[in-house]
Amino acid sequence: MVSSEELTTKALEQLPVTRLKGVGEKVAARLESLGLLTVQDVLFHLPSRYQDRTQVRKIGSLCLGDEVLIELTVDAADVVFRRRRSLLCKGSDGTGSITLRFFHFSQKQADSLKRGVKLRCFAEVRRGPAGFEMVHPEYTFVSDSSSLSDALTPFYRSTDGVNQLTLRKLTDQALALLAVHGINECLPHPLPGNDELPKLSKALQFIHRPPAGVDIDSLIEASHPACKRLILEELVAHRIGMQLQRLRRREKRAPVVSPSGELLQQFLDSLPYSLTGAQARVSEEIRASIKSSNPMLRLLQGDVGAGKTVVAAYAAALAVESGMQVALMAPTEILAEQHLLNFSEWFEPLGVRIGWLSGKLRQSQRRDAIESIALGNTRIAVGTHALFQQDVEFHQLGLVIVDEQHRFGVHQRMALRNKGATDEFVPHQLIMTATPIPRTLAMTAYADLDVSVIDELPPGRKPVVTVAIDASRRQQVADRIAEAIREGRQAYWVCTLIEESEVLQAQAAQDTAEWLTECMQDATVGLIHGRQKADEKDKVMAQFKDGQLDLLVATTVIEVGVDVPNASLMVIDNAERLGLSQLHQLRGRVGRGQQQSNCILVCHAPLSETARSRIAIMRETNDGFVIAEKDLHLRGAGDVLGTRQTGHTEFRVADLVRDSYLLDNVAELANLIVADHPQLVSQLTERWIGRERREYGAV
Ligand code: ADP
Ligand code: MG
Repeated sequence: MVSSEELTTKALEQLPVTRLKGVGEKVAARLESLGLLTVQDVLFHLPSRYQDRTQVRKIGSLCLGDEVLIELTVDAADVVFRRRRSLLCKGSDGTGSITLRFFHFSQKQADSLKRGVKLRCFAEVRRGPAGFEMVHPEYTFVSDSSSLSDALTPFYRSTDGVNQLTLRKLTDQALALLAVHGINECLPHPLPGNDELPKLSKALQFIHRPPAGVDIDSLIEASHPACKRLILEELVAHRIGMQLQRLRRREKRAPVVSPSGELLQQFLDSLPYSLTGAQARVSEEIRASIKSSNPMLRLLQGDVGAGKTVVAAYAAALAVESGMQVALMAPTEILAEQHLLNFSEWFEPLGVRIGWLSGKLRQSQRRDAIESIALGNTRIAVGTHALFQQDVEFHQLGLVIVDEQHRFGVHQRMALRNKGATDEFVPHQLIMTATPIPRTLAMTAYADLDVSVIDELPPGRKPVVTVAIDASRRQQVADRIAEAIREGRQAYWVCTLIEESEVLQAQAAQDTAEWLTECMQDATVGLIHGRQKADEKDKVMAQFKDGQLDLLVATTVIEVGVDVPNASLMVIDNAERLGLSQLHQLRGRVGRGQQQSNCILVCHAPLSETARSRIAIMRETNDGFVIAEKDLHLRGAGDVLGTRQTGHTEFRVADLVRDSYLLDNVAELANLIVADHPQLVSQLTERWIGRERREYGAV
């Protein structure tokens, strides 16, 4: 419990959660996993949704899918044994009747739901065999003294062992403290440009406990002034945080890369092609920034097939020639192996030792690889995230290259950034991505990065022609592939499953490979999936690249980066299950050579609205930038940045797409605060960016 003395002397950000009633060591540890260390953190742990239990709805007015509170009198209750033993309880309120259905219940519970008993129930309205029903509603017995809640019921992001009730009790206490104590208002009031918005304390109170009668949609869509107030503050805090990070990086020094240019020239001369104009331009941009003693942090953006790898090699050549080591990290084994092949082919003839580190190395191989890196014999280390495990130490790491960055979570990126860093020294970093990040988003979410764009494909590429075909015509698709193979073409057949399980995915691919082998007698069919050993995958990929295999059946392991220019046919099974960027990535495996390529999206009807628009967009355009913009609108910003799937959404209340209209105002406010109220900067960033990211952000 908080003593009154503490109340008057300590600010909420200095009160640990353990000072709240009901928070012992155990609960505190769980709260910490939610990022909640102080009372202020609890206040900024905002509801993700609400339920309206402030009013009782009439049964006669219910619609399917409503989440509502109703009151009813039980008319009959029976335990029935159809398919599953269940308790069915029928009730009515004079305007209509409804069934309550329970699959798990005790005898005592069954006995208590007798005819004539009055209940108040909350649940979603579903359709049952005999009209509307509620499955496992929350219910209480109604007495004359039962009163209704006067605020909407909030739901918070939670974790094992901390339930909603606990979180509500904690926020109740935190709000009570807020009322007594106030909170630092870090933005000026009234807000320049948005003077109708409430103060922070009022906005917080409102968001945690919106009064009865508030339109829930205005909260969910964040159009309510209280939401806007919080969103503005969060965006301002992030913008300032990123400006700070940028400044801090500038204070550090990087190894100065000053190559003679000889190795680079040898490398360029050995290529069977010359760089495109765009490749040459971004290579120059990279050369210029790693020549300076400021650590480079650059995003290299280029659509699938634009030729990012050779630019990475260009940068690597510069660093190696200046006596630095290079780390090249890819998100999957297959992709890392492909880089290994390319870099070995390019650099070993020039006397540059390439090392290999993946999670699947044998103990002794791993030890040797790590030793060679530590001694500096390995000049370019290629691998998966195994590259940045604790025990990997570089002799003199000067450049870190991360491929397909959207596959990595923010934390992994940060961990790698720390690798090779000392108190005043940070390696240069080049991050490659095929996910074109729309400009407004890049400026806000990646404000700490410089951006280079390869906006031109290598010469002679033809757009991939895309069609969608119903799954009932799978056999025809197989026949068409067989025919194309007879004409000498190579094809991919990608099997997708929503299940995360690699076992099930591998099984599905296996079955499909067997079926396709039967369908096309004279073709050679290969299979690749995540459960195979690295060298097995290697072998299959090499055979496909060599033309020994006509058809490669694969799971989505081949989604990113795989490069076999001769393959010109891509079949994506169950295409309706994949998101736009995944579809675009997969399709990007073809259309890399001179010949016309085709992509066939095999879909299972009925398609959802979004699935249908995704397929339509894929048929309309091959332009990764257009696709990313559309994707952004279909899915929201968190997904495009790849943060949602890793569970690290960058924002608590803001949504860059929805709130993009505020960004000008955000920039003004951020400048105003940095210039006129520098003492507020750390309060703002601590409040919104949190401890974990504060640590990472320190580099
Ligand atoms: P991504 O940007 O998707 O990583 P890659 O680096 O895998 O693309 O390159 C795709 C293909 O384009 C490769 O087969 C590569 O050899 C080829 N390529 C890259 N640059 C050029 C170029 N300047 N001229 C011709 N082909 C190129
Ligand atoms: Mg690539």
